[in-house]
Amino acid sequence: MDCIFCDIVNREEQAEILFENELVMAFLDIRPVNYGHTLVIPKKHFDNFLDVPRDYLDELISVTQLISSAIKTGLKSDGFNVIINNGAAAGQTVDHFHFHIIPRFRNDFNYRPGFKVYTDGSIKEFADQIRNAVIK
Ligand code: AMP
Ligand code: ZN
Repeated sequence: MDCIFCDIVNREEQAEILFENELVMAFLDIRPVNYGHTLVIPKKHFDNFLDVPRDYLDELISVTQLISSAIKTGLKSDGFNVIINNGAAAGQTVDHFHFHIIPRFRNDFNYRPGFKVYTDGSIKEFADQIRNAVIK
């Protein structure tokens, strides 16, 4: 399978690696939204959030928290976004699961979508559709 992030893990593609352990790697995004924009990935290939096993997620979250803290301290950022894009419709361009950590600075940019308003009673219909699909 052709995967740029697997190539980075296997040292077949260059990357600015910030951290790695047995399971997880963190490196700089080559097209940063802000300088220091980081990606945290499992070394094993999973396509997206729904495919990552629970114990693996624990380790990914732990490293994402560690690197977020380092970004905030090291780059003196005012805040940061942790984002996952799942599926092309959500903006996923590399089908190897990854967290984005984006350092944020006061007044750097604004990327809020237009907010919708639930019409009469529709909030319950949307909730029902999700509630009914929850696998217990
Ligand atoms: P996404 O759109 O959520 O799938 O994010 C994929 C990210 O990977 C994008 O922000 C790209 O800039 C980044 N990216 C793609 N190729 C590389 C690479 N070789 N090294 C570092 N980052 C990359
Ligand atoms: Zn991969």
